[in-house]
Amino acid sequence: MNLCDISTVKRLMSKYGTGTKKGFGQNFLINEEVPYSIAEASYSYHKSKYPNGKIAALEIGPGIGSLTSELCRAYDKVVAVEIDKTLIPILGETLAEFDNVTVVNEDFLKLELDSFLEKNLGECTISVCANLPYYITTPIIMALLENARRQNGASKFTSITVMVQKEVASRLCATPKDSDYGAITASINYYGEAKKLFDVTPDNFLPAPKVTSSVVRIELYDEPKYKVESEKMLHRVIAGAFAQRRKTLLNSLSSSFSELSKDEIAEIIVRLGFDINIRGERLSIEDFCSLSDEFTKVINK
Ligand code: SAM
Repeated sequence: MNLCDISTVKRLMSKYGTGTKKGFGQNFLINEEVPYSIAEASYSYHKSKYPNGKIAALEIGPGIGSLTSELCRAYDKVVAVEIDKTLIPILGETLAEFDNVTVVNEDFLKLELDSFLEKNLGECTISVCANLPYYITTPIIMALLENARRQNGASKFTSITVMVQKEVASRLCATPKDSDYGAITASINYYGEAKKLFDVTPDNFLPAPKVTSSVVRIELYDEPKYKVESEKMLHRVIAGAFAQRRKTLLNSLSSSFSELSKDEIAEIIVRLGFDINIRGERLSIEDFCSLSDEFTKVINK
């Protein structure tokens, strides 16, 4: 069955009494080359790092299964999490030929990711691969990053290959000083490197979205490249620094850290050698790590 054929998509939807839901960010792929290329981008990188051993893919939002089936062909095991219960029987039919896939009807953002991965994919090295629902791209990527490390610091994920809106892709791949550089960019830089792979135009989806999409692969460091006292604090500092983009780093952090006075925050900024009027978007991930450790020290004093 060609799951990217428009009449097949429509026939399946009608057979199971459902339709595409805007509220769940449903834009299904209708050009079979696209899911093939996304799966290939994920798999080729994974295999280059792990030529041996069992490999698995975690997919968020399988839809009717076009990308899922490509992942099933490439990976030993696939776990796909789909929020829309009306798509589950469709996936039962479209993925019937594969015995290496588990479909879970859950809201990905509500999963307890650690135990979920351990239970479903414990013995495998894992890559994440998805055509993400655009209304929750950032929370999904942040949830993956914040859960990306094992207790011993090693990465749980080999890469996170995702299709997102083109402007979001620019944000994921930005460098400090770019106007697109933001909290998500800095967080990604802590865990790995984001690379934009290719664009996908609206006519490849049903229904067609308004904007062009891009596929980005976040290649995660096997072991931490940067070290901080507390990753929780790092995330707080990054979020605080970008909470009010038009403000200076000092003003933005002051609004986010009520337990410190503005003078204490100013002292930290100056002590680290930054201009007191610097803005958050000028800071590299190394800078954020130093800032985070100073905050940890001062708050725990
Ligand atoms: N993978 C399919 C494809 O490429 O044709 C569908 C991609 S569509 C852009 C996004 C999918 O994510 C939809 O199937 C939607 O129902 C699902 N989704 C939306 N929110 C979700 C959530 N919180 N957890 C899991 N799946 C979700």
